[in-house]
Amino acid sequence: MSKPLVAIVGRPNVGKSTLFNKLAGVRLSIVEDTPGVTRDRIYADCEWRDRRFALVDTGGIEPYSQDIILSQMRRQAELAIEKADVIVLVTDLKSGVVATDAEVAVLLQKSGKPLLLCVNKCDSIGAPPAEFYEFYNLGLGDPIPVSAAHGHGTGDLLDAVYDLLPPEEEDEEDEDLIKVAVIGKPNVGKSSLINRITGEERVIVSNLAGTTRDAVDTEIENQFGRFLLIDTAGIRRKSKVEDAIEKYSILRAKMAIERAQVCVILIDATEGFTEQDSKVAGLAHEAGKACLIAVNKWDAVEKDGRTMDEARKKLMQDFSFMSYAPIIFISAKTGQRVDRLMELIKFVNSQNAMRISTGMLNDVLGDATARVQPPSDKGKRLKIYYITQASTRPPTFVCFVNRAELFHFSYQRYIENRIREVFGLEGTPVRFIIRERG
Ligand code: GDP
Ligand code: GDP
Repeated sequence: MSKPLVAIVGRPNVGKSTLFNKLAGVRLSIVEDTPGVTRDRIYADCEWRDRRFALVDTGGIEPYSQDIILSQMRRQAELAIEKADVIVLVTDLKSGVVATDAEVAVLLQKSGKPLLLCVNKCDSIGAPPAEFYEFYNLGLGDPIPVSAAHGHGTGDLLDAVYDLLPPEEEDEEDEDLIKVAVIGKPNVGKSSLINRITGEERVIVSNLAGTTRDAVDTEIENQFGRFLLIDTAGIRRKSKVEDAIEKYSILRAKMAIERAQVCVILIDATEGFTEQDSKVAGLAHEAGKACLIAVNKWDAVEKDGRTMDEARKKLMQDFSFMSYAPIIFISAKTGQRVDRLMELIKFVNSQNAMRISTGMLNDVLGDATARVQPPSDKGKRLKIYYITQASTRPPTFVCFVNRAELFHFSYQRYIENRIREVFGLEGTPVRFIIRERG
């Protein structure tokens, strides 16, 4: 269910981002057309020999200044140790082994996490030069020579990563357990909400197998069901750079989203909608998770009879790219509508897992195409022969058509809306895969 995480760690200028782009760039597709999704490439979904994993460039998070390199390296390493399944320490043949490399190597090795040592900038093909052997001194086993710039060695590196990936998770999901990530920018009330939800309840597990990456996941059971609340607490330490805080919290959100089935996107009612809210929401949308928008601190807002309707209208515009997401106004502080929130979480989770029969889908399709003719171009009209649901989480529909390029986004949207009208699919994104058939 959740993808293993591979973290790239290393000093500035050793070539981490070049390597990241090389590993990420060629073999994956990042959907970048979701508004609000961060373009910074510090996180990418990768696939190698039929295994999928997520790649994180921990060094891409902050701009460096010379005097604080070591402390930032420690932070990178800590994040990697805490979250990653495999860590790749990148070093630089040209600069040789430097003290920071050695310090970080010790830190990483102590963690016991699967670790690879990559020596970048080995640009010449053939036996590595004498300087390469110096890297054995780091005590991390055989260094892997790579040229991120030219690409050689990257396949070997990916093979080595592959060998260290944790065994594939069985697909036997615990059907009743709903995995929830409460996401949002710092101070919006994530911890307060989680405390509110878990507060009076019996906390059953704090350190289940599979939650080891996140020691503070909490499993609870209440009258609404069983929930695993995935921790997303942001890094509290002050950073000199505002931007870095934001990137850290986005990265953390992304990692939590991966593991969740339902994302509760928390907005601060006293601040209203911000760019960062839409970035975080965009990640959940892109990941195909069940989503709902919870406006927290509703107790702190001065209200009259129209306040909620107006706020809702405004939010529907702000989140127009996820118009399927229900909006709820809550207070983690007073507990207002937190019960309703739990019901909604359960509901959107079921919608995200919905399976629609092919027969019913094609009835809806027939009806939809009869009402609004499919588009045509230069005398050629789109024909949609057949539609079927390929998978759930999110519901993904395969459409067989005569000419894919005729299936414009607006008509896809129309079909999507017709399907939603009939089947609901509230709180979940859906996907379409268009296949041509002669
Ligand atoms: P980062 O700070 O670790 O992310 O490093 P960058 O990816 O920004 O690379 C730092 C510098 O090293 C850039 O000038 C890159 O062009 C260069 N570089 C990266 N990989 C290689 C490589 O494989 N060979 C050589 N010769 N230069 C490289
Ligand atoms: P996090 O950073 O998202 O985990 O946010 P916290 O849970 O730490 O909350 C940040 C601040 O907002 C704290 O001072 C909370 O007391 C306050 N807060 C959280 N939820 C509410 C709420 O529903 N109403 C009000 N008035 N304050 C809240």
